[in-house]
Amino acid sequence: MKNAILISLREHLKALKLSSMASGIETHLRQAKESGIGYDEFLLDLATTELQVRAENRLTRRIRDAKFPLLKPVETFDLNAVPDLDMRLFRDLCGCNYIKEHRNVIFLGASGTGKTHMATALGIEACKANYRTRFISGYGLVNELLETRETRDLSRIMQRYSRYDLLILDELGYIPFSKEGSELLFQVLAERYERGSVMITTNLGFADWTQVFGDPIITATLLDRLTHRAYTINCPWDSYRLKQSIKEKK
Ligand code: ADP
Ligand code: MG
Repeated sequence: MKNAILISLREHLKALKLSSMASGIETHLRQAKESGIGYDEFLLDLATTELQVRAENRLTRRIRDAKFPLLKPVETFDLNAVPDLDMRLFRDLCGCNYIKEHRNVIFLGASGTGKTHMATALGIEACKANYRTRFISGYGLVNELLETRETRDLSRIMQRYSRYDLLILDELGYIPFSKEGSELLFQVLAERYERGSVMITTNLGFADWTQVFGDPIITATLLDRLTHRAYTINCPWDSYRLKQSIKEKK
């Protein structure tokens, strides 16, 4: 008899899509009997577990969909190594308000200064806050757009990139784009303008962006929109990698 109740209960919970409650019901029941907690506390425990598991699964999904090349959370970023970083701004950005406000973030600095690391860390914070996040290199995105243009899936891909709450474009500036490539990237960024946040890491000062996008008018329009209401984080310090290898040699 008892068993029949448990079986129906589990089925009902599954039908209600409360799968953690369904799978945990027996253990929770046993524990409740042992500890003698009341019905209310028992149900609260069960519901809390369901919520926790859901939050964990959601975070795992967000992080998987973001496609970070390496998972480098903010705790692994040594703030002591970058005393010139605007700490207040960086901590603020960890709070993700800029995403709510559809503002952009631009990391500007030489290779090895931690731009990708910081962008990844902020991306992970965005995932934790349940924002749809995507990390991709500028070159990777342009290539994807150029490839899909040939398969006529372009508008679907464009739409996908306009739907992320935070789009992180890494390493803009190392490789210049073709005319078509810049125009496609321009379209993606134009779609997102004031609708979703873009985070960029680049080694190029704004004055040199024409080198990447080719056309000076496209570049000027793009920069105008990207930098409007954006936070710029300058990283003028020496390469972290270089400092580490000097340390190791000593
Ligand atoms: P960039 O993107 O500016 O070229 P990266 O973010 O790739 O630089 O950093 C180069 C390497 O140094 C990476 O392995 C990164 O994790 C590490 N690194 C850079 N800055 C820090 C830091 N402040 N604390 C810990 N690791 C750092
Ligand atoms: Mg980088």
